[in-house]
Amino acid sequence: MDSVVDGLELAEPQMREVLSMAKLDVEYVRAEGNSLYHLDAQQEEVRVVDFVGGYASLLLGHSNPEIIAHAKATLDAQTPVYVPIAIHSAANRVAHQLNAIIHRETGSTEPYFAIFASTGAEAIESSLKHAEFVRTARISALTDEIGSHVEQVRAAIKNGDASVAEAAYARLGLSGTGIEGFEEVAAEVQRRNAETSATPPRFLAVEGAFHGKLVGSVQLTHNASFRGPFEAMAARADFVPFNDPAAVAEVAARGRAQLLDLVLTDGVAALVERDFPTYCAFVLEPIQGEGGIKPVTAEFAAAVRQACDTLDCPLILDEIQCGMGRSGKFFASSLVGLHGDYYVLAKSLGGGIAKNSVMLVRGAHYRKEFELIHSSTFAKDGFSSAIALKVLELLEAEDGKAYRLAEERGGALRDMLNRVAADNPDTVKEVRGKGLMLGLEFQDLTGSSAPMISGFAHAGVIGYVIAGYLLRGHRVRVLPTGSAPHTLRFTPSIQLSDADIDQLETALRDICEVLRTEDEQRLFG
Ligand code: PMP
Repeated sequence: MDSVVDGLELAEPQMREVLSMAKLDVEYVRAEGNSLYHLDAQQEEVRVVDFVGGYASLLLGHSNPEIIAHAKATLDAQTPVYVPIAIHSAANRVAHQLNAIIHRETGSTEPYFAIFASTGAEAIESSLKHAEFVRTARISALTDEIGSHVEQVRAAIKNGDASVAEAAYARLGLSGTGIEGFEEVAAEVQRRNAETSATPPRFLAVEGAFHGKLVGSVQLTHNASFRGPFEAMAARADFVPFNDPAAVAEVAARGRAQLLDLVLTDGVAALVERDFPTYCAFVLEPIQGEGGIKPVTAEFAAAVRQACDTLDCPLILDEIQCGMGRSGKFFASSLVGLHGDYYVLAKSLGGGIAKNSVMLVRGAHYRKEFELIHSSTFAKDGFSSAIALKVLELLEAEDGKAYRLAEERGGALRDMLNRVAADNPDTVKEVRGKGLMLGLEFQDLTGSSAPMISGFAHAGVIGYVIAGYLLRGHRVRVLPTGSAPHTLRFTPSIQLSDADIDQLETALRDICEVLRTEDEQRLFG
């Protein structure tokens, strides 16, 4: 051992401190279904019911026996895992399965092409990159077309067959005639178009959204503390107020810009405005996860689709947390009849044991050259593809029994949460969500007369304090959502039992009592 670092926590030491402050500094030694186990002082296993589900990545549970058996068989067969520049039929089969599901849930018959990655943020970034590839190609095509129009006008003026419209000179603040006057107009058109084309792309996203924390994706994540320090590094988003259909077109109008074209009609060259694609994509979670478990309404979804169609801007549906069956449908967007140009999946696609993510792009929007300029060492690998195939097989088995279970178990959990909320209106503000993606929001605790409760609430960490209390006192593992610290998230697996729900009910009723009586002794004791 190196004596300088001996005993130091080197893997994220600050996080270790925060965990210990919130009394969440527990090391789990075994995981199965919705159970996590840690050891007590006698080295005996202590069971904790896990409602976090690896932040919603374990729809089929921890250590799912069928997935584990399949993983073992895959490895025992010495299946090639990392073999770039070769044929990957397992990844292709995953893409086919996902296409069949998209077609079933949306009625589309268009192929969706798949680009694989490892994490959620990475797949979001590859979708953003692809959308930008399409946008820059559109700008080039538009600029080329304008260039050929300018050439046509130049030739006609040289021949004495045309002149530039007076209004064009006036609009550009120029005066002139003949070929010299035209050249001034052409140069100004070129200058203004170059300036517009050089503006960075923008994205549209929604207030409260979470799309990852990498350089590009974090700019679409609304939480300013995650996004702010890195704003200079990547393209920015305009954020639409959540579930406000009227605001969608209004915000989208902010990015309105035009290129100037010169169009010859009956010997007169007039200036014509051509819409410039400022927005690269609209990125949307059909159910916001980290923003506080908030499903979009059908009206909002329709307004987003309409804005995208009007702007000719692709819609990227981030189904990383809400997708893969958790909502009761494979795609949560299906619940509101929303169709995406892109779908992004991750989390449960890995079956709880692999890192895997994928973005799927609608055929009409897909540019196959993208494949030659975008890749990752770990994408499309044999192991995670084999696991994804097994996950999809398990989800689709018995005519979608897993989706029905997500709905039914989610319904039982939700009924309990609603009962707790109804009995505790002074502490519980709202219960939200779909299927096995549920949230319980506490009333604002910043105004509590108990100084520690209000202090932690002001610091945005009261949800973690509550989580620590529930873990120690009730052996229930819950966590708040990333950007809405008053909301607890419940994203367990479909193996959720009635006994697990009962255990959570006892725990929640207790914390409601603690908060109502502002019993700091109990909360922090
Ligand atoms: N999008 C959504 C909706 C998410 O919930 C998350 C993770 N919480 C991400 C993107 C980022 O995924 P990852 O953590 O795998 O990068």
